[in-house]
Amino acid sequence: MAEEQLIPATEQKETDMATLTPEQEMNPWDAQAARFDFAAKKLNLDSGLWKVLRQPCREIIVHFPVSMDDGSIEVFTGYRVHHSVARGPGKGGIRYAPDVSLDEVRALASWMTWKCAVVNIPFGGAKGGVICDPKKLSQGELERITRRYTAEIIEFLGPEKDVPAPDMGTDEQTMAWIMDTYSMHMRQTVNAVVTGKPVNLGGSRGRTAATGHGLAVVCDEALKLLEMPVEGCRVIVQGFGNVGSNAARLLADKGYTVIGIAEYDGGLYNSNGIDIHALVEYRKRTRTVTGFPGAQAVDKDELLTYECEILLPAATENVITSHNAARLRCRILCEGANGPTTPLADDILSDKKIFVIPDILANAGGVTTSYFEWVQDRMGYFWTESEVNQRLDHIMSESFRDVITYARNHQVNNRIAAYMLAIDRVAYTTRQRGIYA
Ligand code: GLU
Repeated sequence: MAEEQLIPATEQKETDMATLTPEQEMNPWDAQAARFDFAAKKLNLDSGLWKVLRQPCREIIVHFPVSMDDGSIEVFTGYRVHHSVARGPGKGGIRYAPDVSLDEVRALASWMTWKCAVVNIPFGGAKGGVICDPKKLSQGELERITRRYTAEIIEFLGPEKDVPAPDMGTDEQTMAWIMDTYSMHMRQTVNAVVTGKPVNLGGSRGRTAATGHGLAVVCDEALKLLEMPVEGCRVIVQGFGNVGSNAARLLADKGYTVIGIAEYDGGLYNSNGIDIHALVEYRKRTRTVTGFPGAQAVDKDELLTYECEILLPAATENVITSHNAARLRCRILCEGANGPTTPLADDILSDKKIFVIPDILANAGGVTTSYFEWVQDRMGYFWTESEVNQRLDHIMSESFRDVITYARNHQVNNRIAAYMLAIDRVAYTTRQRGIYA
């Protein structure tokens, strides 16, 4: 794993966005570092703070055994990375996927720091991952993996330390198991140790659809800003998991026309609009979107280059790259996923005048409602769904305007504005707290 060792702070060099190698372009950690360096330079960030904020403050790697259904023993590798805890407890999801790597988890943890700072909620940034394929594991195996992984990292978790949440490959059931395992060790029920739990275990109303909800709010804001009508606004969504399906459903309910859905196993297109509620039902029944009778089957990669007003990638990293960015035909790129666009693609999008709503702003609805969940758990008093959504609308709209104003005032693109705003907030807190010695 030599290539995964971080360079010591004293030997760190700036990552130049313009000279990223093809390998670096696709490495989420390098992509994050390139944007961080660019934004920090624009901010004239003090070199000491640059070193502090450039790399994660804690990285945990665990290899743990699990009994499989067939009686065999398997060893899994899990990570939990705390990027910053300057503004509050670490916060961020746990991802279960076969290709999880330490560099990916590092990048995701840093993005959580910047995301929480952009929406100004009192959390740092963290992320976890376990290398496994949840599609190939039984419920029992998933439960044993989750409980053992939790036990391995338990001293670093807690409502005041680090609060996980769902991410790709995990859901509210995973959070229930983590909450229970942590509570068993503490000898008391501690529901604020995770967010994204089932509502009856202290979850927040509105949390499941929150990322999609936030995406719909920033799309509305972008249309207002660009003076574009909702009517006739064509949307293509890539990814139909929790984020993509909720975003598509909420946008369709608001009057947007969702003309395309690109899933990992195929694309769907209907120029008159896809009936998203029917598609959700179809997928529940058949476990796939392919074969849906209300749309034409198309190539999932080509679909990203179809003409539309909004392209909304909502799956994973490296979807918009230097290979396809020039062929995009959208007016707005709204990033539902974390890191869907590479730094080299950013330049191409700028040249094409595509309006980018960057991930650390666009998909922050999830963690914002996680914050509400954590607050409600600690109060022991729960809000109605409309209270949650009203507060979410307010934070998302305000954060959108903050980023746009910052971009205008500093003559930078929206992504760099979001990074600068976030880095400035985290640096300010770090400087104010001082360096403990
Ligand atoms: N996994 C989500 C994200 O990437 C949510 C994190 C959270 O709620 O803590 O933003």
